Amino acid sequence: MSSVIKTGMRVGTGYDFHTFEEGGRLVLGGVEIPYDRGLKGHSDADAVLHAIMDALLGAAGLKDIGSYFPNTDPQYRKISSLLLLEKVYRLVRGKGFSVGNIDLTVITEEPRIQPHIEAMKANLARTLHLKADEIGIKATTMEGKGTIGQGEGLAVQAIALLIKEG
Ligand code: MG
Repeated sequence: MSSVIKTGMRVGTGYDFHTFEEGGRLVLGGVEIPYDRGLKGHSDADAVLHAIMDALLGAAGLKDIGSYFPNTDPQYRKISSLLLLEKVYRLVRGKGFSVGNIDLTVITEEPRIQPHIEAMKANLARTLHLKADEIGIKATTMEGKGTIGQGEGLAVQAIALLIKEG
């Protein structure tokens, strides 16, 4: 029987969806994006960071973000999700992992994400101790179809690779 060798690399995925509402702020990847609607949520509703947090937690074998930051807890109301991402990073480091790379796709009809990608990458690089080329951010649409295509909300899909140190 052949032996099993594990290299200590772990992968995790995350997904998040929030609905648009009139007024409020649209914050993605810690960047405020000018738009006539914002995303509805208990925190700042930063779906990019929420999807990344779940990918990191999943890769580390931890629970999902709702378990750590319940949306019924007043201390997380309107909180910047960058602060939550810092906490998740510390949890992941606490389990002996560093982040290898992350990659994500924003799925929305509007607004255009492209002009804000560099600023989003800078926030992620600083918080997760990554280089710019270790972060992928893409955007796509639903070509007018379904809930997202009709502009009712926005979704983000993310993946993260963790590397066990030592
Ligand atoms: Mg969320």
